[in-house]
Amino acid sequence: MVSLADLPEAPLDGTCTHCGASITRGYVVASETAEGYAFEMETAVCDTCGWTDVGATGCAPTLSDFETGDLLVRVERDEGALRPAAVTDERS
Ligand SMILES: [Zn+2]
Repeated sequence: MVSLADLPEAPLDGTCTHCGASITRGYVVASETAEGYAFEMETAVCDTCGWTDVGATGCAPTLSDFETGDLLVRVERDEGALRPAAVTDERS
């Protein structure tokens, strides 16, 4: 199992790649690299798009919905910065 401690601590500058809105709560894929996990911000989506455009309608998205990466990470904005909140799915 991968934990939040394995992810980069730097806050993310998250814009939803589907609707262009600044992400308050959403999802982003992370991939394992030689330097540890890195976020793939081109996969970032807000909750609304994640649940309607990416995931099966009415369901939270899963990693397989993105067709890339090793982890799906829940992100939430806290004190103005978007930060990882939970690892919700990982490549099995
Ligand atoms: Zn969106």
